[in-house]
Amino acid sequence: MNAKRKVYLQDKTRGCLLGGAIGDALGYAIEFDSEPRIFSRYGETGITEYRLEPYSGKALISDDTQMTLFTAYGLMAADCRRRKGERVVPRDYITLAYLDWFRTQNMSFRNGSQLPSHIPGGESVLLATPELYSRRAPGNTCLSALSRLTDEAERRPDYIAEPMNGSKGCGSVMRVAPVGLDSEFLDIKEMDWEAAQAGAITHGHPLGYMPCAVLAHIIHRLLFNEKSMSLKEIILEARDTTADLFAGNEYLPVLTDLIDLAVELAESEGTADLDNIHRLGEGWIAEEALAIAIYCALRHQEDFSAGIIASVNHKGDSDSTGAITGNILGALLGADRIEEKWLRDLELKDVIISVADDMVNNLEG
Ligand SMILES: [Mg+2]
Repeated sequence: MNAKRKVYLQDKTRGCLLGGAIGDALGYAIEFDSEPRIFSRYGETGITEYRLEPYSGKALISDDTQMTLFTAYGLMAADCRRRKGERVVPRDYITLAYLDWFRTQNMSFRNGSQLPSHIPGGESVLLATPELYSRRAPGNTCLSALSRLTDEAERRPDYIAEPMNGSKGCGSVMRVAPVGLDSEFLDIKEMDWEAAQAGAITHGHPLGYMPCAVLAHIIHRLLFNEKSMSLKEIILEARDTTADLFAGNEYLPVLTDLIDLAVELAESEGTADLDNIHRLGEGWIAEEALAIAIYCALRHQEDFSAGIIASVNHKGDSDSTGAITGNILGALLGADRIEEKWLRDLELKDVIISVADDMVNNLEG
């Protein structure tokens, strides 16, 4: 990889992971707040700046960013094995990485950091990061699925064929952006499929995992955009490739119709973000979280700050809609176009940057 390309990919990869963390941190402060509460507390524009945690002085990230980092770790471990000639399925390593995350939710840093990673021979900078041993409103679906997956006999070769449960919560799609950053997958279709599998590790409903394929496809195209497609073209392509991948699935029209509505609303004139978001849902479930993120990213594609502010100021799952919007806008615009104020107080900023840079170095082999 030449130096110019490396700088370009680094900017986009950092943008995707930092952007997600920023949207997550902004939204986490109001995740469970009603709209009257948000707008009475923060004024008619809603929350537009971080609410800092008094003890650390940081804007705290939530489980969305934690799990995103572990997704990246699992992918890199899988790539490492692939390069050594092993036949590797990324979902297996992502599962093990999620079990590492699960440990951070159940153990103290003191005890957890003494244990080896679930990935054989894996050295995880994440398990050595004290701040990650924090419960930030983790989703029950993830916790209960991973609790079962600690038992090896529960692990599946194919999480879509043998679903863990019937959940379509957004805990799947909020964490899979790194799959799109990984170009070790030769075939983009295979990558889309692995993104869906990564979601299905904990979320077994088609509407839980199909949005993961859409998001990874969008992120991948934003980085490796050989055809200079616009964001809208990329979104529509991701809709269509996912529709091909899951052709015949009875729930597919729910997802594709919602994506179409998000695109239509993003282009509507004289309408307010909050009204448009209400038409897409609340984001607690995966297809709604994705649709709200697509809407906000498309509507505010020139302005990262405006996009994430719009994406969190509603009564729904603000940190997840913020995280996914930040993933998309960060990958589109690059880290350089994220205002410095968002980076200054962001918890784990340096860890996120180092994971992003590792992913880019990883592409070099
Ligand atoms: Mg969260």
